[in-house]
Amino acid sequence: ATVITLDRVTKTYPKSRRPALDDVNVNVEKGEFVFFIGPSGSGKSTFIRLLLKEDTATSGQVLVAGKDVATIRPWKVPQLRRSVGCVFQDFRLLPNKTAAENVAFALEVIGKTRSVIRRVVPEVLSLVGLEGKENRYPHELSGGEQQRVAVARAFVNRPLVLLADEPTGNLDPDTSIEIMRLLDRINRTGTTVVMATHDSNIVNQMRRRVVELDRGRIIRDQARGVYG
Ligand code: ADP
Ligand code: ADP
Repeated sequence: ATVITLDRVTKTYPKSRRPALDDVNVNVEKGEFVFFIGPSGSGKSTFIRLLLKEDTATSGQVLVAGKDVATIRPWKVPQLRRSVGCVFQDFRLLPNKTAAENVAFALEVIGKTRSVIRRVVPEVLSLVGLEGKENRYPHELSGGEQQRVAVARAFVNRPLVLLADEPTGNLDPDTSIEIMRLLDRINRTGTTVVMATHDSNIVNQMRRRVVELDRGRIIRDQARGVYG
């Protein structure tokens, strides 16, 4: 099954001269692990924003799980965001909630019962290797641990796709590799992983599909690719 389709997608921001994405065609199948690489400004974040419906394409179609995101009604956007978990370079945790509360919050907002939350939160925190740190606040955790909380929060609803926008951008090389091991493990459970990065070491170590962007165009799409 195809989980992501971009069909002739162009995105031009207001007042900008050239498109951030320029006639992009790409499919991602269920279970794939795909790196989107390219220099700063090549369109990686724009791609992720379109998938989350944080922004809309100027032309062309963006499909997630076969649904055209442009036609998703506003009240159904939360449902889309549930099927597309996302982690970011800067973690984006709630600073005044503990690790467990950050994950629990993602379940509370979609109406999960207290008993489900009590069961699921420790499970997913243990899955990401944070057993014993459930009650720490973000500032009491290392960068790598904070990113693990973010991954737990993104994964707790078992999304169809896990999007990661430069997830290792603020981490040292060893910690980055640990986070990649975690994403790899999540991918092996059947979750599609789409990761935007310009970390060449990571891409070269993982040897997964590489889609390379340059000035908004796909210039390479290679199975088991390397960086550059
Ligand atoms: P990347 O994530 O690869 O660094 P982006 O998707 O952030 O690339 O940016 C692609 C292009 O779109 C760049 O030229 C950038 O300046 C432009 N851009 C991104 N966001 C905006 C915005 N909100 N308004 C105007 N231009 C933008
Ligand atoms: P608030 O202060 O926002 O009311 P709570 O202490 O009620 O936060 O916790 C919010 C949620 O986080 C609760 O549903 C609770 O089950 C969950 N939670 C908090 N700590 C833990 C923990 N150590 N293990 C599992 N779940 C936890």
